[in-house]
Amino acid sequence: MHFLKHFSPELVVKSPGRINLIGEHTDYNMGYVLPTAIEKNIKFSLQKNGSDHHCNVYSRTYDTGFEIDLNKISVSRVEWENYILGVLYEISKISNELGGFDCIVASNLPTGSGLSSSAALECGLAFGLNELFGLGLTKLQLVQLSQTAEHTYVGTQCGIMDQFASVMSKAGHVIMLDCRSLKYDYIPIDLFPYRIILLNTKVSHNLASSEYNTRKEECEQGVAIIRKQFPQVDSLRDVNQSMLEECKNNLSQKVYLRCKFIIAENERVIKMAKALKEKDLPTLGGLLYEAHEGISEQYEVSCKESDFLVAFSKKNSNVLGARQTGGGFGGCTLNIVHQDAVLEFIESASKSYKDKFGIQLEAFEVKPSGGTSKLSNSVG
Ligand code: ADP
Ligand code: MG
Repeated sequence: MHFLKHFSPELVVKSPGRINLIGEHTDYNMGYVLPTAIEKNIKFSLQKNGSDHHCNVYSRTYDTGFEIDLNKISVSRVEWENYILGVLYEISKISNELGGFDCIVASNLPTGSGLSSSAALECGLAFGLNELFGLGLTKLQLVQLSQTAEHTYVGTQCGIMDQFASVMSKAGHVIMLDCRSLKYDYIPIDLFPYRIILLNTKVSHNLASSEYNTRKEECEQGVAIIRKQFPQVDSLRDVNQSMLEECKNNLSQKVYLRCKFIIAENERVIKMAKALKEKDLPTLGGLLYEAHEGISEQYEVSCKESDFLVAFSKKNSNVLGARQTGGGFGGCTLNIVHQDAVLEFIESASKSYKDKFGIQLEAFEVKPSGGTSKLSNSVG
């Protein structure tokens, strides 16, 4: 792209990926989640280009870029462009301060691996433009407009967790977020002598986006039926297991299982927060295995590769707990591994996984890290 030859960024921003310790698919059911950002991130180098509405965005990851006219934003046929276009569209709905800019995106965050590179992409751009043009948007506005961009331009009806985690995280902590009130607490996470090890299955089943939206609809179907008996119910957040049992005969087996998982998962987030505060590591590990069972058997958003790795971890007494993290159908498993056994664990898991699926997995440690931030700037 032409602009790359004359690029001297005024501002550099990084926006991280995230893990979610527990609380999968609870965000769009108005429940609780426990995410934190990780050290892997997407970096945005930005400059104003002096035009009113001409923009250039280039992704080093894909070695390709595109031009945008801010007066003519519309959905693209190229998937990744829609994360960018959606953010620009949502910003232009609430601010008319945006002008022409050039942006280079670079990343060390795996995409499509359940670590939410999508939210990092949306939030980093929104944060960067807010700084570059002095838009005066709050962090919460950046989070919400990024979430909406994913709904309207990408078509994934995601909850708020990923964007919230990317922007709001604090090093050494997980965020206990109530997705209904958006009230949150930072809970320190000290797992010593254990480490958080991610195993990337390297599979990213195409089902992820359509099945995600289907799960959301199934939960809504459940709520509509439960509400006939319990009119005060607005979301699965308002339902407990005994209410669900009372409505069981009116629900299909599938919808019943979806609801059962969400209700139990919400309870697990609360138990997990308590276990973290009390540093009760065996309970913490047990909750992870329990959650994975629900993810796999009740919510049915796992896959044979993730199930294999979690079952592998379960046989290893140096692993306290494991589960698939992220929206589902592959991506990474999160494992709590004793520090003395990390190398042996990674080697043996890699070998078994390679033998079984012929795929070389990727393994790395993650540390709870801070949210989207500015790296440098020479802007006034
Ligand atoms: P996840 O959020 O778990 O990584 P998603 O499927 O939700 O998986 O989002 C991945 C998508 O985000 C990619 O397919 C791509 O469209 C976009 N994306 C992520 N990182 C980049 C990048 N560095 N450059 C361009 N697009 C990216
Ligand atoms: Mg995503």
